[in-house]
Amino acid sequence: MSKLLIIEDEEAIAELEKDYLELSGFDVEIETSGNRGLERAMKEDFDLFILDLMLPETDGFEICKRIRKNKNTPILMVSAKKDDIDKIRGLGLGADDYITKPFSPSELVARVKAHLARYERLIGSTVIENEIIEIRGLKIDKTARRVYINGEEKQFTTKEFDLLTFLAQNPNHVYTKEELFNKIWDMESVGDIATVTVHIKKIREKIEFNTAKPQYIETIWGVGYRFKV
Ligand code: CA
Repeated sequence: MSKLLIIEDEEAIAELEKDYLELSGFDVEIETSGNRGLERAMKEDFDLFILDLMLPETDGFEICKRIRKNKNTPILMVSAKKDDIDKIRGLGLGADDYITKPFSPSELVARVKAHLARYERLIGSTVIENEIIEIRGLKIDKTARRVYINGEEKQFTTKEFDLLTFLAQNPNHVYTKEELFNKIWDMESVGDIATVTVHIKKIREKIEFNTAKPQYIETIWGVGYRFKV
């Protein structure tokens, strides 16, 4: 499922866009602040960005420029002013499309679909080797962020994926729950080390044949966890 990020400070508009895009089968997330939106755009893997131009803190111009420096992910710029759209076109910031508010939800969905299809063709035409970690029956495709156990794909949340990947990349190393929480969850995250325990449990349910005798993530009592190789 394609994952989209809407960066839009007008929540009612963002929610409306989200509703329509979800009905069309997309996985949609919203950030209402420019800073937080940019941070997630850089850190996480999205398939497309819908970016409002006028935003508090970091505006859409800056976000577009910063994303483009690092990623080729399609960007749809949204603005209430036609003049602004003309201006950004002129700047050549690298956005893939521009939409003037108000627009119909069906128009937005059509454009999102078109850009995703175009981008997939683009990626498909170049040979990119995915970065893969394979340990016994467990296969982690870091590039596609997908996890397979004995050939069967399992669904992972972002944090479950990050935690499993971190441990698998650092085998035979014991990490405390505090260390894992600090590595995987950012400073603004709500939660504590109990969050780590809950995530480990969920990961085990997905990858372990017998969760009582884990063959991948071992519990080192009184200390933390270790990925077994
Ligand atoms: Ca705005």
